[in-house]
Amino acid sequence: MERPQRLGIMGGTFDPIHFGHLLAAETARQVFHLQQIIFIPTGNPPHKKQGSSATAEQRWQMTRFAVDGNPYFSTSRMEIEREGFSYSFDTVCALQEQYPQAELYFIVGADAILELPTWKRVDELLTKCHFIATFRPGYDLQALQDILPGKAFERISFLAMPAMDISSTDIRKRLKNGISIKYLLPQKVEDYIYKNNLYDAIKGQVDLFLQERLKEGRVMHCRQTAKTAKELAEIYHIDAQKAELCGLLHDCARGYSFSEQKELAQPFLKQLAPLSDTDGMLFHGPAAAALAQQNWGIEEEEMLNALIYHTVGRPAMSPLEEIIFLADKIEPGRDYEGVAAIRELAKKDRKQAMAMLLQNNLAYLKQAGKEIHPLAVQAAAYYNKKGEI
Ligand code: ATP
Ligand code: MG
Repeated sequence: MERPQRLGIMGGTFDPIHFGHLLAAETARQVFHLQQIIFIPTGNPPHKKQGSSATAEQRWQMTRFAVDGNPYFSTSRMEIEREGFSYSFDTVCALQEQYPQAELYFIVGADAILELPTWKRVDELLTKCHFIATFRPGYDLQALQDILPGKAFERISFLAMPAMDISSTDIRKRLKNGISIKYLLPQKVEDYIYKNNLYDAIKGQVDLFLQERLKEGRVMHCRQTAKTAKELAEIYHIDAQKAELCGLLHDCARGYSFSEQKELAQPFLKQLAPLSDTDGMLFHGPAAAALAQQNWGIEEEEMLNALIYHTVGRPAMSPLEEIIFLADKIEPGRDYEGVAAIRELAKKDRKQAMAMLLQNNLAYLKQAGKEIHPLAVQAAAYYNKKGEI
């Protein structure tokens, strides 16, 4: 960077960064003739509660993608790397040292300006840098004046700008509910969010998919399986987000006809071989794996296997496979003889619960005169330690 005389600072959680932030910075740059604007994602924000949020590294990555292509924009890891809480005061001091000749312009939304009186050493801060407060046309500036001490109000320049009605909170809410976020933020940031399943993005989409295709009772079953899987994952210290997602996904192909399920299942049929056509019920496992892969880019073998084998089971399942297998059969909506005992056991001894469940399953299938898949027999034998497989 050349030595800027007028340097803009755009601080924020950027969880995620969006066009509101970018447009505010670009507008401020033009109006105030700023030569450079540094986007500084907060480390551990003192003004914000932790919740379903991205990590500092992920927020940093998204910020980098967002400013890419604008030669006037750059980013700094200063706050992310600082230990403890980030305060704007410390950031401004550090930038003053780094750019002693520059005038600093701190760009903030009017909502953030309202909190100014609570900022660390705000009086001193106001002497160190200018503030540019962006606000929506028609915003009641008088209200701001009433809240801010007169001295502070005089130090702040106000900048009306359009398109203020985008917020990270709204974007996170949309993702959670499977609603599109297109045109609210840069495409690269959107891609990164889905690729890394930030803000439960995939869960939101899957839930919507289920609502559109399955009967209400089955949607409930999927949600309950997801919840149970998450609880079990927490008990057994495996990735709860993955378990929850697999629980939600396990029956996602049930809205299709058997022939459609069979068609979808093709890429994974080998893993359930031999599978006869009379085993129609078994196609929805591999079909769910195919949908997970095609629709939501899920490639992780362990997750796909948890979906493929959730109906029959198999010997030596992975912890995630076991948890999905169990959760499907013990979620609170299930009601069959012996379920309460298996439910209790699942929380204490997962392997024992698997043994009991698989044994019960075999007995039921035999009694009902149904065809039994060889993997189900082998799984029951394995978990009940009846000989080597
Ligand atoms: P959240 O909804 O989580 O509070 P946010 O969208 O407000 O997130 P922040 O990272 O909190 O984003 O905001 C960083 C800075 O950008 C703040 O000064 C904020 O006032 C400003 N800002 C946020 N959204 C907009 C917007 N749509 N237009 C202009 N400025 C914005
Ligand atoms: Mg905000």
